[in-house]
Amino acid sequence: MNDDFENADIGTGGETAPLPVVAVVGRPNVGKSSLVNRIIGRREAVVEDVPGVTRDRVAYDAEWQSTQFTLVDTGGWETSVSGLAAMVARQAEYAAQTADVVLFVVDATVGITDADEAVTRVLRATNRPVVLAANKVDGSMQESDALELWNLGVGEPYPISALHGRGTGDLLDAVVAAFPEQAREAEAPETEDGPPRVALLGRPNVGKSSLLNRLAGEDRVVVDSVAGTTRDAVDELIELGGKTWKFIDTAGIRRRFRALQGADYYATMRTGTALERAEVAVVLMDVSEPLAEQDIRVVEQVVEAGRGLVLAFNKWDILDEERRIYLEKEIDRQLARVAWAPRVNISARTGRHMEKLVPAIETSLAGWSQRIPTGQLNNWLKELVAATPPPVRGGKQPKILFATQAGAKPPQFVLFTTGFLEDNYRRFIERRLREDFGFEGSPIHISMRIRE
Ligand code: GDP
Repeated sequence: MNDDFENADIGTGGETAPLPVVAVVGRPNVGKSSLVNRIIGRREAVVEDVPGVTRDRVAYDAEWQSTQFTLVDTGGWETSVSGLAAMVARQAEYAAQTADVVLFVVDATVGITDADEAVTRVLRATNRPVVLAANKVDGSMQESDALELWNLGVGEPYPISALHGRGTGDLLDAVVAAFPEQAREAEAPETEDGPPRVALLGRPNVGKSSLLNRLAGEDRVVVDSVAGTTRDAVDELIELGGKTWKFIDTAGIRRRFRALQGADYYATMRTGTALERAEVAVVLMDVSEPLAEQDIRVVEQVVEAGRGLVLAFNKWDILDEERRIYLEKEIDRQLARVAWAPRVNISARTGRHMEKLVPAIETSLAGWSQRIPTGQLNNWLKELVAATPPPVRGGKQPKILFATQAGAKPPQFVLFTTGFLEDNYRRFIERRLREDFGFEGSPIHISMRIRE
């Protein structure tokens, strides 16, 4: 197996940019937690702002006027620095480095303090957009308090009451308006309607055509010509387990088409285009022969394309005991990197274990679509990192500030860190994600946003 494949499930796949990140900064007791609660609509409970108590959550999923973003509460960061102003300034520094927009909260009823000024100095030194919230303006009586915050020199103070909700709409309008252009356009991913799309792949003679016939039957096939794609792409709608499935580009599999093109053409050229349109791939392998380079390459292609994967071992009817033992070893050795893929041992000829194919495909589709809410993810990550911190690199210990799942199909994670995380450590995170959350049958993509 080559090195590329070693890293395939971490470093490749279509990358989705994370949602815009909004970091809430400000000294203790200005009402950061109340504001966070207000913005996320208390969908995820936040621990109260008790001095000395580290908050156990840092990042949340949030939405305003159908724009989604990640809301980060910096309260729990870097509490070891002594002196309030220094501590708050350090938090602001991290926040400014990680966030697309900084939401700076000041208590308007107290006015500008040293700590507020320390934060301001940090924020001015960065080029991040800052939105200033003048909190605790519970009524018109306090409006003039808010005006004084112009003196901070970070722009217009938005008078709000995090507790009562007053003014928070205008504040959030300003936050969203400050997002980078493309982030504002990044709408919810398009919904794919219709039956789930399956690609049946494998090198010539592994039994694709036989399996398709077994599943569909030549005469019950509904042929669905696809306009605008490969000229001769043909999808077939097949009913299995009480559900309709779309088998992608079966033209190359069906004998009547294959005669026109040659089987090799299909194996090499068509795999990629079929994968583009599929959600999940069943890679068929022939157990009567040794695993070939070509088998591994098809599996690699599925992982690289970021599609769900099912490994199907065909011709199980002609497998003897000696060969079976050898095969298990080969699978362990050559397919260890996709140990997360469900596996079925079938025979297209006898129909052995045909009923296991659909559940395996469903498992992969579910793992491929899986999402972990940001709050839950960060709770989990915090425990993981506390128990096993990232290894020190160049004398420094990289910190993982927070993480989000930037996308699904396949699941993509972004770790916001203060330093580079070794591949080994990212693999460790991936392994633990799989152990604790599943993601069975799907590649996982983990990337970093490093703020040194
Ligand atoms: P394709 O090129 O992947 O579409 O493979 P085919 O479906 O054309 O099958 C290649 C050969 O393997 C044919 O001779 C099939 O009869 C045979 N074959 C397919 N599935 C099985 C199976 O489960 N058991 C056995 N013994 N032979 C099979």
